[in-house]
Amino acid sequence: MPLLGLLLLCGSLQAQTKIIAHRGYWKAPGAAQNSVASLYMAHELGAYGSEFDVNLTSDKRVVVNHDPTIDGYLIEQTPFALLRDLRLSNGEILPTLEQYLVHGKVCKGTQLILEIKAQATKQDEDCLTAKVVELVRAHQMEAQTEYISFSRNACSELRRLQPAASVSYLGGDLAPQAVKDSTWTGIDYNQTVFDKHPEWIKEAHRLGLTVNVWTVDKPDDMKRFIKEKADFLTTNHPAKALKLSR
Ligand code: MG
Repeated sequence: MPLLGLLLLCGSLQAQTKIIAHRGYWKAPGAAQNSVASLYMAHELGAYGSEFDVNLTSDKRVVVNHDPTIDGYLIEQTPFALLRDLRLSNGEILPTLEQYLVHGKVCKGTQLILEIKAQATKQDEDCLTAKVVELVRAHQMEAQTEYISFSRNACSELRRLQPAASVSYLGGDLAPQAVKDSTWTGIDYNQTVFDKHPEWIKEAHRLGLTVNVWTVDKPDDMKRFIKEKADFLTTNHPAKALKLSR
């Protein structure tokens, strides 16, 4: 292929919207939200990334779960010993971050999109963030892990502890310039934010920030953000989004 053609092809590949499976590809048979199975399914599907959430137990273990509670237990007030045998809806045992990282390494080529959940106190949140960074380092998963959070404190802690990490802010209440000034790498906003601020996609790109949009589940919305050149779409329907993005 002539050089110009190759460069144009590379340019168009770079511009393609990448698809992230929200809480893994949990709608696949045998999977559940935030399960190890949903991570493997996202990997098999060929999604760019598999998103999941982490929380901290009272004895400072990091577990993978969206809600602050599981089976009636408030995770931050419960020791890991009481949670370790709980099962997800697909029968899988509640995963720890450590287990997720081990399986993530097997899923080479799939980015782990790790959401740090806001904790009740800054102290707990700092502890959770530090533990996460420590585990990611211990498993040599820095390049395969990208961070997201609604907590500005967690985003700043991530930036401080792992300066080269990709850190995107979920809150939706900061203009791209404020995110840039905070030295985070991207905005990761609910799609309704871009109804109010349609200029934020181009503005973010002009500032060198990435743009991720969640949770984009309707085909028309997927088409809209692909056309608007969002870098990432986070969706509960990654198979559909992948087809539309190619
Ligand atoms: Mg999440």
